[in-house]
Amino acid sequence: MRIEIVKKIGKAQLKFEVEDPKMMEAMALASFYTTMPDICGKCQSTDVELQSQRAQGKYLYIKIHCTKCHSESSVGQREDGKGAWWKEFEKWTQQE
Ligand SMILES: [Zn+2]
Repeated sequence: MRIEIVKKIGKAQLKFEVEDPKMMEAMALASFYTTMPDICGKCQSTDVELQSQRAQGKYLYIKIHCTKCHSESSVGQREDGKGAWWKEFEKWTQQE
């Protein structure tokens, strides 16, 4: 089963495609994209963008960043790698 998800994040139009022979698995994959935040959870602005950040050369962070209030929703990942979700928006703070 193949699912196409078109999502508008701020000014960007993103197209995702997921595929899995098992219908439920394909739906589970698709849900990650359909639940990707397109408005800020803190100030409700639609001025959000998809960003990434590499830390210490090994960790890769994917997040939705609000350009208005600088809150972010980052991706939480299951330890077994079988799934990810979008966390609640949190105010961005400078790293120590
Ligand atoms: Zn915001």
